[in-house]
Amino acid sequence: MTIKETDSLDEMLIERRRELHRHPELAFEEKETTAKLKSWLTAASVTLADLPLETGVLGVIGGKKPGPVIALRTDIDALPIAEQTGLPFASEVPGKMHACGHDLHMTSMLGAALLLKERENELNGTVKIIFQPAEEIGEGARRVLETHLLDDAQAICGMHIMPGLPVGTVGIKSGPLMAGVDHFIIDLNGKGTHGAVPEQGDDLIVVSAQIISALQSIVSRNLSPLDQAVISTTRITAGNTWNVMPDHAQLEGTVRTFTEQTRGKIEQRMNELVTRIAGAFSVSGKVHYLRQGPPIVNNPQLADLAEEAARATGLKVVDPEPTTIGEDFAYYQKQMSSLFVFMGVSGNSGLHHADLVVDERAIGKSARFFAALAEQLLNKTE
Ligand SMILES: [Zn+2]
Ligand SMILES: [Zn+2]
Repeated sequence: MTIKETDSLDEMLIERRRELHRHPELAFEEKETTAKLKSWLTAASVTLADLPLETGVLGVIGGKKPGPVIALRTDIDALPIAEQTGLPFASEVPGKMHACGHDLHMTSMLGAALLLKERENELNGTVKIIFQPAEEIGEGARRVLETHLLDDAQAICGMHIMPGLPVGTVGIKSGPLMAGVDHFIIDLNGKGTHGAVPEQGDDLIVVSAQIISALQSIVSRNLSPLDQAVISTTRITAGNTWNVMPDHAQLEGTVRTFTEQTRGKIEQRMNELVTRIAGAFSVSGKVHYLRQGPPIVNNPQLADLAEEAARATGLKVVDPEPTTIGEDFAYYQKQMSSLFVFMGVSGNSGLHHADLVVDERAIGKSARFFAALAEQLLNKTE
């Protein structure tokens, strides 16, 4: 297949995006999506690597001339959300929707693959395009890395649509962009008693309240005012009736940070507050601090190259606000230099919203941007 006119590429990508949008699949269930991606890539003679995962695809382009290996990444899964857009190509699967834009990510990288394929003989190295499953549950990137098929990649670039940015703009930031995501569970244990005779036992609900308030002092009192973090207690479970003090209480929540240092400080301070407050009330308090995805911290050289690629493909570069949302793309950066960008799509609503409608012209623009960026990376990576 040759793509002579950009219009026909844009139209084809939009058509394929609508096809994917109609048939969303949840994390690790992306079988139809995988089959479609494989057939589209194969039709364009893109080589597919033997990816030992049930879902997901790895396309390989280049290698005709010596040079580095670089990677482009898109996620492919949808969400358990009932679509309310009223679009003619709305989800045909009840209760499931591409509400995080992964359908646009897939078709953007598909477009980049097709454009790079046309220049395969000129490419100074190899581009691996990974269509990664299960981003929404934070599992897919680790599974892909465990296959070792990206071990030879020196750099990786990915994107997320950003409804708040206008179409034709791309948010490129050097340094921290998206938060590290942690999950905490706090268990309090003591002696239950009659609600009328609190002196004969422990009141874990009062202790819980003290802990919840104290946790809010970590960001305001233990971090620099110039540092950024969020601590949210999102669930509290204790007791089951009106006249009995429970012997167990459990709190749960999330911590979002942009550096490993802040992350460590919050974990340490949370442990101190919980054990000491519990100790002051003579009950037992234990924190289970579960580290999930690390923060996304963009490589400055890659950010500079991306700005050049954006200018070369007619995109306006903006400096995006970092977000406390996490992304499992962060796992790749432990192994290779990485860059994650926000693509403007002029959305009417936020990510994960049932009524999210975006400007599909962003797909062709992203495809050209990532094709240009991939070539630059091949030329500039030592
Ligand atoms: Zn999402
Ligand atoms: Zn997403």
